[in-house]
Amino acid sequence: MDDPSVTAVNVRGETAGNGFSTAEGPLDLTDGSPEPALRKLVGDMPADEFRRFGRQVVDWIADYIEHPERYPVQPGVKPGALVDALPASGPERGEPMDRILADFERQIVPHVTHWNHPGFMGYFATSGAMPGVLAEALIAGLNNIGLLWKTSPALTELEQVTLRWLLEWLRLPASWFGMTLAGASVASLHAVIAAREASREQARATGQPFELEKLTLYTSEQAHSSIEKAMLVLGLPRGNCRQIPVDDAFRMRPGLLEDRVRADQAAGLRPFCIAGTVGTTSTTSVDPIPALADIAARYSLWLHVDAAYAGAAGILPEKRHYLDGCERADTFLFNPHKWLFTPMDLTAFYCRRPEELRQALSLVPDYLRSQEGQRAVNFMEYALPLGRRFRALKLWFVMRYFGREGLAANLREHIRLADGFARRVDEHPDFERLAPAPFSAVCFRYRPPSVDPENLNAVNQRLIEAINDSGEFFLSSTVLHEQVALRVAIGNIHTREQHVNRLWELLLQKSTEAAAGRKQN
Ligand SMILES: *Cc1c(COP(=O)(O)O)cnc(C)c1O
Repeated sequence: MDDPSVTAVNVRGETAGNGFSTAEGPLDLTDGSPEPALRKLVGDMPADEFRRFGRQVVDWIADYIEHPERYPVQPGVKPGALVDALPASGPERGEPMDRILADFERQIVPHVTHWNHPGFMGYFATSGAMPGVLAEALIAGLNNIGLLWKTSPALTELEQVTLRWLLEWLRLPASWFGMTLAGASVASLHAVIAAREASREQARATGQPFELEKLTLYTSEQAHSSIEKAMLVLGLPRGNCRQIPVDDAFRMRPGLLEDRVRADQAAGLRPFCIAGTVGTTSTTSVDPIPALADIAARYSLWLHVDAAYAGAAGILPEKRHYLDGCERADTFLFNPHKWLFTPMDLTAFYCRRPEELRQALSLVPDYLRSQEGQRAVNFMEYALPLGRRFRALKLWFVMRYFGREGLAANLREHIRLADGFARRVDEHPDFERLAPAPFSAVCFRYRPPSVDPENLNAVNQRLIEAINDSGEFFLSSTVLHEQVALRVAIGNIHTREQHVNRLWELLLQKSTEAAAGRKQN
């Protein structure tokens, strides 16, 4: 620290300096406190104070990333513990920044699950890479709110530029309309809104009645719940979300899809949308998108593709084939915040014909009218949210800092680590893989001959808990063919071979304990 008088806040939990502590009760602000912000109630934190604490925060983040071993990946806390630990009411009087930072470390961090930890391998492991973290600070510093093009031309146009760059990297049509959204779930909602609008338009053009409750959507039984949720939000009957069975590699079966579309049409229903997935959430399976596109074309259905996690792999020539057929989609999404090292949140959402979205969502109140002409895109006319963050700035930082080459190298490393892990599972007689692993997530279970098959689910559940309780790793689970599966998802930019080796060692150790635990009971 440059200035030794400044209170040091660091990840070791030590605080030096004036020793403010929340245990001391409310501060007396009339006691000639040296903090300028306390003397002055009107106005923001002074710039010199911001500079001082800004440096501390940057140092804290750098230490945090450099020494993840200081923290258990998952905090061993009980629900409600933080609520109980914090005051019931907000502070009447302002508090000094060093005290807030000290409490951040002392009170908040112990309740944090460390997604940026290399041992985080649950769900889809993600990371907000450092260039993106720096961009987030600038985004907050600018605090732009994108309502219209003119409320921040850079916000709108950088979004157009970066989303176009991504399309080129993924080798998808450059003509697609792209915008960022807060998540894949929100993006899929937009897709289903557009699909509904297109169906309404078809009905109008052909003079058919349009009844909402007759609309049917087709997705696989492995699709993300956000697809069904989108149907619910739009007020469509829940059962109208058809969950088409999958094959033994968890991919939607196109023959059954087509049968179901035909049967629904024959029953007087109105099929309107197919939602395929590239990289399902459980196993990262890939639906046969070209076959789905053929069926969509044959029955004039909207084709939406959710590639939230696996879309990123499209920047790798050797994995691009998993996106084959996506160029025929009407809407497509993927999450740079999932496996492209962009801090939460940034979903890239694309639409072939944005007119449907605009038709459904363009409601321009008088106070938001603008006349800048053709090139001035107002994203609010295509989206549910009005205000948008300057998200594209962090994507621009990440894309430029790493380049396609650097991002590809990181993805390849994750895939290599996952392949190595899958091989170990395959080669060990007491472990069993439960799904193909085309990207960087491996589903498997412990299945030693000594454990009665009907106890395997309980043993594997205990194994996951033992791994997570170790504090070294966090794994999540799924259920495949009624079998509890452990999921190792490698996607954190800090994860290295040594972490995967250590995880395997721990799995071997904890698995025998988990099996033995059963026998004792
Ligand atoms: C993670 C995931 C989602 C949800 O993503 P959010 O951005 O958290 O809404 C949707 N679909 C798939 C396939 C996913 O893996």
